Amino acid sequence: MKLIFERSRPGVRCGLLPPCDVPKALPAAPLRSCPPRLPEVAEIDISRHYTALAKEAHGVNDGFYPLGSCTMKYNPRINEEMAALPGFTGLHPLQPVETIQGALEVLCMAERLLCEITGMDAMSFQPAAGAQGEFAGLLLIKAYHASRQDTVRKKILVPDAAHGTNPASAAMAGYDVVSIPSNERGCVDLDALRAAAGPDTAGLMLTNPNTVGLFDENILEITNIIHDAGGLCYYDGANLNAVMGIVRPGDMGFDVVHLNLHKTFSTPHGCGGPGAGPVGCRQFLAPFLPGEQAVEQGGGFTLEQSTASIGRVKLFYGNFLVVVRALSYLLSLGREGIPEAAQNAVLNANYLMTLLQDRFDIAFSKGVMHEFVITLEHEKKRTGVTAMDIAKAMLDYGIHPPTMYFPLIVHEALMVEPTETEGRAALDEAARILHEILDRAQSDPAALHSAPQTTCVGRPDEVGAARTPRLRYSFPAAQ
Ligand SMILES: *Cc1c(COP(=O)(O)O)cnc(C)c1O
Repeated sequence: MKLIFERSRPGVRCGLLPPCDVPKALPAAPLRSCPPRLPEVAEIDISRHYTALAKEAHGVNDGFYPLGSCTMKYNPRINEEMAALPGFTGLHPLQPVETIQGALEVLCMAERLLCEITGMDAMSFQPAAGAQGEFAGLLLIKAYHASRQDTVRKKILVPDAAHGTNPASAAMAGYDVVSIPSNERGCVDLDALRAAAGPDTAGLMLTNPNTVGLFDENILEITNIIHDAGGLCYYDGANLNAVMGIVRPGDMGFDVVHLNLHKTFSTPHGCGGPGAGPVGCRQFLAPFLPGEQAVEQGGGFTLEQSTASIGRVKLFYGNFLVVVRALSYLLSLGREGIPEAAQNAVLNANYLMTLLQDRFDIAFSKGVMHEFVITLEHEKKRTGVTAMDIAKAMLDYGIHPPTMYFPLIVHEALMVEPTETEGRAALDEAARILHEILDRAQSDPAALHSAPQTTCVGRPDEVGAARTPRLRYSFPAAQ
């Protein structure tokens, strides 16, 4: 398709401004000598450009999107409507507090409900994404140890099944990362954890249910081992979808939690849109929370920053409209709907796994929660067809591929998370398609190596795109 620059025609405009009828006030010095080379297009050109782009992307509104660990569920429109209310979108973050009482109430209410769900005592909405929530949470742990003059704790323990952001955040916070192996059941190896925990342990980062979709049956023992060693426990709550309203990280023994509002609590994501990774903690860590906190005071609301705060990690109050969506989602589902959504997420994953497991190898199929991991290791040996080939073939059937080659502890992995918002028919259809693709893999493996056939781009050079991105348009020499 054409780039917006290629649609450009000299002199075409979106808006027609009347000629200027007042003297030009700007001095010449700061003015640029030639105008920027912006695309010159009419409003209809822009509209068609973005519509064409949207048609070449796959979103939750196009079809099944079982991208494991990412929780690509359907986001009800009511939450968008709430976030679009002019009373919210028209706010300026520097307005006096007496004029933003409603917005502060949103923050306080969302904090209260999400603390109730996580078993935490306080929460900051500053972090803009899960990874930033992790980073902020680790800074809380660091500030806590520093406040006790405990300066020898340099290590963060991270299970090998962890999301890649966990070791990255720990390293960014200045810690040494110690990888803890998983046992044969896909959970934390307790002996290895005991051996690693000690007076130099600052804390543990854990995802539960973990990235192979399992709830660690030793969770209380795990958090006890860390606490006995004087460390703190960090819960990666990006995948709270499986357990929200059912079990609470606080009751599992965790001290700090981050949530991904854009996964679990209804903000459209993917393609880098705004998210929110609020960080919650138990009371003894609350003074260290980043930035200003909205608090209820004397019948109204105000903002406060504790002197022990780790400081801002993001401007103002984070991505506020994402919090509005989350609150709208929480209030519309309510105390009954939240656990029901979690139960259906688990039911859907188990239903789809059951339809597949007679022919697909499931990495850890016992006690699967919201997602499961297929391993195509045998298929690759038998036919040469890889997880990548199967994932790419799914695109030709209008399904977004599952997460590929993750977690790293499973070879030829496809990590499938159907989410609760899919109906049974969609799951039946997905299972039928996967069986058909497997038939093709066995009868004509070569054909699958060149899938997909129906998309605008088949197999982009992903490494090249990430390492040497071309972000500037090169104008033809004549212009
Ligand atoms: C998605 C995810 C993250 C990171 O969240 P971002 O918002 O992408 O930064 C961290 N941990 C787990 C388990 C996740 O699934």
